[in-house]
Amino acid sequence: MKAILLITALAAGLLTACSLSPGTVAQADTTSEPARDGRAKVTYIANEGVMIEAGEDKILIDGLHRKYLDEYAYPPDDLREKIENAEGEFRGIDFVLVSHVHGDHFHPESVGRLLMKSGRTTLASSPQVAQLIKEKFSDHQKVKRNVHAVDFEFGKEAVISMQPADFVPEREAKAKPGIIVIRFLGLSHGTGRHATIQNLGHVIEIGGLKFLHLGDAVMSDENFDVFDLEKAGIDVAFIPYWYLLSERGRELVDRQFAPKHIIAVHVDVNEADKIKKDLEAADPRVRVFTKILETATF
Ligand SMILES: [Zn+2]
Ligand SMILES: [Zn+2]
Repeated sequence: MKAILLITALAAGLLTACSLSPGTVAQADTTSEPARDGRAKVTYIANEGVMIEAGEDKILIDGLHRKYLDEYAYPPDDLREKIENAEGEFRGIDFVLVSHVHGDHFHPESVGRLLMKSGRTTLASSPQVAQLIKEKFSDHQKVKRNVHAVDFEFGKEAVISMQPADFVPEREAKAKPGIIVIRFLGLSHGTGRHATIQNLGHVIEIGGLKFLHLGDAVMSDENFDVFDLEKAGIDVAFIPYWYLLSERGRELVDRQFAPKHIIAVHVDVNEADKIKKDLEAADPRVRVFTKILETATF
């Protein structure tokens, strides 16, 4: 798909700046089969890694990482290589999103390799993630036009929208909703050694549905209040499982995000079965992702 990107900086919901970035590379359209059963299909990769597909549009978030600590799931080598090589269902990914630089969410060489293979794919993430691609991926010069660092500030957001350039004039594109619209939210990962981590939350509009992904955002009202996510019409929220262990956490999820569906992610692999059973019993809306490549459709 030939596409243009619009990058818009917003401060607490107010439009303050706007600029047009170079388009992504156009390639022959050889995408694999679109999602069938629903309007969007979600495939679990590992930990907080998911791919969201709607028609020919695909987004991968936190899906490319390697072994880090024992309790975190990671894609096995054959799957990771398939993603890095943009093969099979991983062909034609429009956006790679990365919540933050921690090794259970991101590996710069893996993301760099995917960008090398798939010229149409854009990495849109924090300045910290973009910087690590530069430092750790030896061919970074060859992929730099596919890397977009979005503005990051705690409590602020940026927006990207993507539309087919063939029939939407640039001057009109700004005013029309894109096929894919992504809000990048500057969320805190916590205090101490986590205080400087640029953790991005994402609201991803694709296939007419809205998906929320939090990365490792710290569980507090102060972290989310400014974004009014409960008014955003979230269809599916990917929530770190620890939010859902307590009544207090489950109430925060409802109060802050008001999601129609909840998928628990970042599940400790040593306790996966117990966590799955407990969380699904506590709230019938919750589905727990524990099996690599399991899918859900919406
Ligand atoms: Zn983290
Ligand atoms: Zn994590």
